[in-house]
Formats: sequence, structure tokens, C-alpha cells
Amino acid sequence: MADKLNAVKGMNDILPPESARWEWLEATVRELMGRFAYRNVRTPILEHTALFVRGIGEVTDIVEKEMYAFEDRSDKHGQAEHLAMRPENTAGLVRAVIEHNMLYDGPKRLWYTGPMFRREKPQRGRYRQFHQIGAEALGFAGPDVDAELILLANALWKAIGLTDVRLELNSLGQPAERAQHRAQLIAHFEQHADKLDEDGKRRLHSNPLRILDTKNPAMKEVVEAAPKLIDFLGAESLAHFEGLQAILRANDIAFTINPRLVRGLDYYNLSVFEFVTDRLGAQGTVCAGGRYDDLIAQIGGKPAPAVGWAMGVERVLDLLKEQGAAVAAPVPTAYAVVPDAASMPVVLRTLQALRESGVSVQMHAATADGLSSFKAQMKKADASGAPYALIFGADELARGEVTIKALRDGSGAQTARVLSDVAAWAATLQSPVPFH
Ligand code: ATP
Ligand code: MG
Repeated sequence: MADKLNAVKGMNDILPPESARWEWLEATVRELMGRFAYRNVRTPILEHTALFVRGIGEVTDIVEKEMYAFEDRSDKHGQAEHLAMRPENTAGLVRAVIEHNMLYDGPKRLWYTGPMFRREKPQRGRYRQFHQIGAEALGFAGPDVDAELILLANALWKAIGLTDVRLELNSLGQPAERAQHRAQLIAHFEQHADKLDEDGKRRLHSNPLRILDTKNPAMKEVVEAAPKLIDFLGAESLAHFEGLQAILRANDIAFTINPRLVRGLDYYNLSVFEFVTDRLGAQGTVCAGGRYDDLIAQIGGKPAPAVGWAMGVERVLDLLKEQGAAVAAPVPTAYAVVPDAASMPVVLRTLQALRESGVSVQMHAATADGLSSFKAQMKKADASGAPYALIFGADELARGEVTIKALRDGSGAQTARVLSDVAAWAATLQSPVPFH
């Protein structure tokens, strides 16, 4: 036998029955996005590396060390493109919005879901291929839409029964306000340079705000004593922040203000927020977002404000599991028992008709050993969880019929139905008491 190949480290297979949880979450999200009038977008997984360098920022974990970036094969002119697998979807979405001039007729509310790629140290809640669901509102400036996005995330928690998350908010103000704060922040960290770790020292002059985002407990004290950005905000920034809080309060959305919440990506301004939990260890942020009014211009578009969030699907599902939420594995409505291979043409035609009528049917098919015995097939029917077995025995087929046997109501009741008119009786399989 050939050597066994395994999945790439940090990249997971999502298999049944677990995949049912994913499908259920995706269906819930799709429905909810529709209710909030957010429209779906799908952008490519590969983008030009330059998009992420420009969009996310050169001095970020993602661009410095986490991106799967490579030089493509050269084309016939010997030119090779620098491409990267998307580490997040905001930059790609904004690129698409600009490229297709989507804001020409007014602001847009958009959402996406799909895999993202970051070369991180794999651990619980941190993978190299992971999945995000994201919502973005582009072209809106006010705190009302910031609040709408938070209400949307909150509605999702409610719809899926997630209870153990709390909302943290902060305001990053505007670039000029941040510049003032930055100078003071550098002075503070320079004074305590001995307490900074290597990342901290490196970031001291390139991106000192990010030091506040450290996960190193040894730096907790020096970070807590650092000057707070909120103290540098002007009246307009404060009014925006107040406006957001007022809407949240009116909607009974509990939150705390966390002055150290700066987010990992460079492009944010004004509102930033995270939904966090204490139940997933160090990987406690399940959803994170904020306003990024400068990003569209940074990527080459006509300036327009924007705000959005992204949630980590793996973390959300892990938290649900942690809360004990059971996943209902899908079961077919009927399991077709086919004792004789010769009857397959009729069987498949009947099952197709049932499926067209909306019935979910699983067929017993031959393995390398052929078709198993009637008894073994009935066992499989039982194990499938289907409420009914459809028995295509030779006697039944000779009469132009199929036998339906109830498998779950304890009655073991059986009845015959004609094959010539499947649509007439298909619905009886969907009702809990089909033949009394
Ligand atoms: P963290 O601080 O945990 O690294 P981040 O700030 O890098 O998160 P974002 O880029 O804001 O995360 O992504 C939004 C969400 O996507 C996160 O809150 C998290 O739920 C999820 N996420 C980010 N990176 C990963 C990963 N490597 N594996 C699984 N989920 C992730
Ligand atoms: Mg990260």
C-alpha cells in the first residue's frame, strides 16, 4: 500500500456528524442576514499579496508572519505574481466593492463566510485554516450602523442559543487623536523598556498601540499603567462613541468598556468591539470588529466610511459544545431495503419520485460483496435512524407495490403502496402516523 497522507497541520476535516452543526449554523446565519437585509458576497481565496500588506498593515502578526504567501509561476513574459491565501475577508471584500464600483448607488450591507488561512501555532481555537462569518456595512458613517452590526451579532447568539459571551467596547478615535496618544504611549514604554518582551521592543516605534494587545502576562502591569487612548479623544469621537452606547443601552445590550481593546489589525478607527468568553481558555474572542473609515481609500477607492465584524466559526461551535448543546444528526425519512439486485431499476425510479416529492430516502446499495441479506438490510434500516423502511421485496414488486414498515413507533405496522403513483402517498411518510 502507498504511504498514508494526512491533512496539513492546523487544517481540519469537518466530517459527519459534526458537519451537521456547521450546516445548521450556516442556515441560521443565512436566514438572519436576510432579516437584517445584508447581502452575500463571495470573493476569491487567493488575492494579490499587496492587497493584504496595504489593507491589513505591514506591522501586524498576519502580514509579518502568518500569511501563506507565495510567488506564482511566471507567465510567458517571465512575470510572476505575488499571491496570498486570504487571512481574512475584509480586504478582499473592500477590493471587490471598489473594483465593481458597488457604492455608486449608495451604501451597502454585505456578509460573507468561508475559510481563512494563517500560519499560527495550532491549538484549541487557533487553526491554520479556520472559518469566519463576517458582516460589513459600507458607506455609513454614524454609530447607528455600528449598533446595528452589534445587534446582528447579538441576534445570532440568541438564535443559536449561545449565552456565555460578553461584549467589550472601545473607541480608537481618529488618526490625529491616536498620534497624540502614540507619542505618550512611546514615552511610557520607553521608560519601562526593561519590562517589554521582544515583540514589544520591536513594536515600540513601529506600532506601539499593538503592545496593548499583548497576550504576555508578564507585561500586564506595564500595559495597565499605560496612557489610555480614550483620554485623548475629541468631542466628535466621544459623541460617536456615546451614540453607540445609547443605542445599545436602549436595546438592553450589556457591555463593558475595555480601554486596552485595540484589535490586531491596523485599519480600525472609532468603534471597536469584541464578544468574548471565559470558557475557551486563551482563545476567548469569538467575534471581533470595528469601524475602518480609512480602509477603502487605503486600498485605492473613493473614501467612504465602513464598519464590520468577523466571527470565528470554530470558536462559536466549540463554545456551543462547551455549553452542552446537542447536535441533531440528520436522518433520512425512509431506508430502502432491496433484497434483489434485479429490482434496482424500479427501486431507483421510485426513490427518485419520492425525493421529488420532498422525501429524504437512503437506498441500500451493493458493496464489493454484493447486496447483503434481507435481515442485514433491515438491521441497517434500523441503524440509519429512519422512521420507515421501504421494502422492495420480489412479491411486492410483482404486485406493483412497495411495503412501508414503521420502525420507530413500536407498532411495527406495515402497509402496501402502489408504485405507479408515488406522489399520491409520498406525504404519508412525512406524517408521524402514516397509516391508521
Ligand atoms: P486573536 O487575537 O485570537 O488572534 P485576531 O485578532 O487575530 O484574533 P481577527 O483577525 O479579528 O482575530 O478575526 C476575527 C475572529 O476570527 C477572531 O475573533 C476569532 O474568533 C477568529 N480567528 C482568528 N484567527 C483564528 C485562528 N487562527 N483560528 C480560529 N479562529 C480564528
Ligand atoms: Mg491573531
